Amino acid sequence: MSKDIYVFAEQRDGKLQKVGIELVGKARELADDLGEKVVVMLIGSDVKRNAEKLIKHGADKVIVVEDPMLKEYVTEPYTKAVTKIINENDPNIVLYGASAIGRDLAPRVASRVHTGLTADCTKLDIDEETKLLLMTRPAFGGNIMATIVCENFSPQMATVRPGVMKALPTDNSRTGEIEELKIEFVEADMNVKIRQVIMSDKKAVDITEAKILVSGGRGVGSPEKFEMLKNLAESLNGEISSSRVAVESGWVDHDRQVGQTGKTVRPDLYMACGISGAIQHVAGMEGSEFILAINKDENAPIFGVADLGIVGDINTILPKLTDEINRI
Ligand code: FAD
Repeated sequence: MSKDIYVFAEQRDGKLQKVGIELVGKARELADDLGEKVVVMLIGSDVKRNAEKLIKHGADKVIVVEDPMLKEYVTEPYTKAVTKIINENDPNIVLYGASAIGRDLAPRVASRVHTGLTADCTKLDIDEETKLLLMTRPAFGGNIMATIVCENFSPQMATVRPGVMKALPTDNSRTGEIEELKIEFVEADMNVKIRQVIMSDKKAVDITEAKILVSGGRGVGSPEKFEMLKNLAESLNGEISSSRVAVESGWVDHDRQVGQTGKTVRPDLYMACGISGAIQHVAGMEGSEFILAINKDENAPIFGVADLGIVGDINTILPKLTDEINRI
């Protein structure tokens, strides 16, 4: 019988990616509900050193597949490794991050093991009665949230948006099993050869990693005025982010959009400046530790999710706030 929850732990250059640790946290919660185990698939070259960390974050067991050929992510050898693990262990559920790698790998594996895949989930639960996984994701361009169940195929598979699930804190008392699985990779497995990796010149910013976000919406009014937000973010050692309106107006890059069709963030501090608090925006930031909203409309819905609200004009408040912070 299918059992246990398997998580694909994404790594780049041997460094674990946050999304994998978040998924281990969620898998732990689901596994405890089902009375099953959390097993992590750690695949790459020289990655075994990360296994203990995964156990301390909630895994019961880590299956390590190492090979020099797995140094960089290439679809075919990674698919071969994950498919073999699934075929040999018959898991109940398999989770991947909905990252560039997860979005490439998961459908390929789903096809190989003849099961379905629910992509880009923002919520996972167990149905009390059937014990099936309830996989919720935005559908029809984000206009509805659809809950999908995989009744007739196994394993139940989902990719999950980075930043949506909460990683468990490190628990140094946790122990688990580490299994090294040997798989032979041959030249024919390398359907793609990476000849050169060229890093983008642009300083890549991942707003999902930022501890402090100063976020602007239509109320900011212009790209020039976004400088106010940038100054404040700099003073706080944070990053700027935005609502969709600010992206569509060309004031900020798309990779800084927060919300249902943007990124899901959980910073320690989220400052919503001139953002009304539309449901599609709130979906991407409501998990933040502390939300500070500044809006000149006291009835703006953003105050409904804010821990602290300031009713006022950002043009007066933000420069003052930045000056005060710089004086400390
Ligand atoms: P508005 O709603 O226009 O709000 C501007 C706010 O600024 C107002 O509350 C106003 O009182 C305040 N304001 C104005 N001037 C000042 C000032 N000087 N000082 C202080 N406050 C001021 N939106 C997202 O953000 N992310 C998404 O991922 C996203 N996905 C979507 C997906 C779908 C399918 C759809 C239909 C919509 C989506 N939207 C998304 C759009 C969303 O519905 C809202 O239109 C958008 O979030 C509104 O952005 P805003 O708050 O910046 O602008």
